Amino acid sequence: MQEPTLNIHSIETFGTHEGPGIRLVLFLQGCPLKCIYCHNPDTQEIKKNQIITLTEIQKLLEKQKPYFSKEGGITFSGGEPLLQAKSLIPICQELKNQGYHITIDTAGSILNDSVRELLNYVDLVLLDIKHADKKKYQKITKGSYQNFQNFLDYCEQKKKSIWLRYVLMPSYTDNKEDIKLIGEKFKDYSYIQRVEILPYRRSGIEKYKQLKIDYAYENIGEPNNKKLQEAKNILKNYFTTVHIR
Ligand code: SF4
Repeated sequence: MQEPTLNIHSIETFGTHEGPGIRLVLFLQGCPLKCIYCHNPDTQEIKKNQIITLTEIQKLLEKQKPYFSKEGGITFSGGEPLLQAKSLIPICQELKNQGYHITIDTAGSILNDSVRELLNYVDLVLLDIKHADKKKYQKITKGSYQNFQNFLDYCEQKKKSIWLRYVLMPSYTDNKEDIKLIGEKFKDYSYIQRVEILPYRRSGIEKYKQLKIDYAYENIGEPNNKKLQEAKNILKNYFTTVHIR
């Protein structure tokens, strides 16, 4: 049988931001959302970039294993890793059998039979909420809020642990009422273990320039500490654990 492979953009060894502990992070190629604040526009194209096999992933994990301690493991990020759910199933199944902690970093934009099956082998979902307001969700992405909601509901039904992540971008996602809406909508989801606020960073703009893609938000600055703290305080009214990353 042919070995399962993934189409990846890049690899980060010893990652510390994409889930608990020290992690091997694979950034998968392809994403349909095209968010206005995307930091990695070069991951969006669904083109064949770099292929990695299960055996190669296992070798990388073997090398890193001594540093994982109780928390670490592997994270499949992107792009949108759920686009490659079918290929991820046998890979995650095998890695789970070998005892690795598996995290998926996704915007929850796809829910099909492959994604449902894949979730059986996933320990933690890092779930980006782009916006809690349906119309505004569509202003900042090319996706549908309903897909996100369906994915989140499925995770809750299957008792999947979730870290909800929210990018705070001035003028687009920093409105107090919008942040309150996240709390109101999701406070009763029992499997949301924490909420992380990710400050919008302008460092991605360079990539747009290199790729010769027009970037319409060059005049938007990064959120200041006051705004970040304000968002955190609002979310703390609804969720026990809220971090600014
Ligand atoms: S979901 Fe992530 S990778 Fe996809 S466009 Fe949005 S920010 Fe970029």
